[in-house]
Amino acid sequence: MSLDDRQLAMLREMGLTAWMPRDAVAPVVEAPAAEPAVEVPAPLPRGARATGVEQMDWPALREAVAGCRACALCENRRNTVFGVGNEQAHWMIVGEAPGENEDRQGEPFVGQAGRLLDSMLRAIGLTREAAPPERQVFICNVLKCRPPGNRNPEPQEVAQCEPFLKRQVALVKPRIILAMGRFAVQSLLRTTEPIGRLRGRVHDYQGVPLIVTYHPAYLLRNLPDKAKAWEDLCLALDTLEAHG
Ligand code: URA
Repeated sequence: MSLDDRQLAMLREMGLTAWMPRDAVAPVVEAPAAEPAVEVPAPLPRGARATGVEQMDWPALREAVAGCRACALCENRRNTVFGVGNEQAHWMIVGEAPGENEDRQGEPFVGQAGRLLDSMLRAIGLTREAAPPERQVFICNVLKCRPPGNRNPEPQEVAQCEPFLKRQVALVKPRIILAMGRFAVQSLLRTTEPIGRLRGRVHDYQGVPLIVTYHPAYLLRNLPDKAKAWEDLCLALDTLEAHG
């Protein structure tokens, strides 16, 4: 058998070298030198949750989220959505769960609601882009995986994911948390009260002042409530100023 130039070029692209001993009929293909063995942790069985989350540093936490198989949402996700922003941000923004775009890109709030969130942040001098901790927020969700069809998260999915969010809060040590939307608010505050009754005052999550506001996706459908969201942002600014 002989190899033409195109086949030889393809083998080269793949990092393989073909050489033809003078009397041989078949080419001998040399594999690249074997990489030294790397220890890959065994994947968690379905239903098992990573242990020691409350002691993890950032890299360990990222890895635990990426490999999480604690609930059924792991079966259909494309990506886990850990969160983005400054790991020492003064502001932490917490939403509900990744949607389709977020699942595809592995980043929270990247769709239309995300663009509105970015505008809201810009209005008070904040950004998700690289900036010092007082200006660059950290954005994440209660759930790190997308519920299929954007259905509401199940209580048991929230329970499995909660240690990750708690650890994120403990590591970021934000000075203020902005919880967006009924679902995030009710999960963080462990209440069934509607947002309308929770807005306008300062709550507490793990010792951090928490302000409740509407979800940007809701605001896109209910434009008049943008004025209320603006009041919430002002309350958050005032709270941050008052708490130093
Ligand atoms: N809605 C959320 O609550 N979070 C996202 O990341 C996207 C949409």
